[in-house]
Amino acid sequence: MINDQDHKYRPKREEMVMKLREMGITNERVLQAFRDVKRHLFVDSMFWESAYQDSPLPIAANQTISQPYTVAYMTSIIAEHYKSGAKVLEIGTGSGYQAAILFALGYRVYTVERQEMLYEQAKKRFEQLGIKVQTRLGDGTLGWAAMKPFDAILVTAGSPDVPRPLLEQLADNGRLIIPIGDAKRQQMCIFHRQGNQVVETVADNFAFVPLIGKEGWQE
Ligand code: SAM
Repeated sequence: MINDQDHKYRPKREEMVMKLREMGITNERVLQAFRDVKRHLFVDSMFWESAYQDSPLPIAANQTISQPYTVAYMTSIIAEHYKSGAKVLEIGTGSGYQAAILFALGYRVYTVERQEMLYEQAKKRFEQLGIKVQTRLGDGTLGWAAMKPFDAILVTAGSPDVPRPLLEQLADNGRLIIPIGDAKRQQMCIFHRQGNQVVETVADNFAFVPLIGKEGWQE
């Protein structure tokens, strides 16, 4: 059992939640999940002091844990439309923080990471923290066909276009939430499957690390 020093970080977490509220995150279930999940445990201890600032932080393999606002923004889209128990696929496990937030909301979470080091670290972290999510090492641009269909698919890396396999793995009334654009800037796109139709909505701008894979950016 690690000493997580949570007495020190709980007030900082509450401040982060207040900041998220000021920034327009209003879903109380989402805000409660941000109160419950200890973000500092998803980064190296050298970053614990800055873990509750609204900024991305470095993790292994030259990747980042997304900024809290970005995680809250994407999670809110899911929470607005799907009750706990819904099946959610995350592409880009990274530190595991986004998956932990989804698990705290009661979703059945599946998460795919392409970098072996991150996959191993996140898997170990989930076990230590009692976070029950299904993990997979592989190219997430191909989704997770054996586990389809998903009510929601969340892509936490920026893509040049929409990966077709992800659209195909959406359940009826499912939503794919994915940042699409160039290497520097992407727009959050939401693809809503309604029977045989897919309706696209475009939301705010973000800056993500690249989604690398067969249906994303080439290595
Ligand atoms: N969701 C993560 C978290 O909560 O820490 C942050 C993810 S980070 C911004 C993006 C992640 O996507 C990186 O870990 C990167 O290795 C991963 N990634 C990029 N392309 C991928 C792909 N094709 N399949 C799976 N993961 C991918």
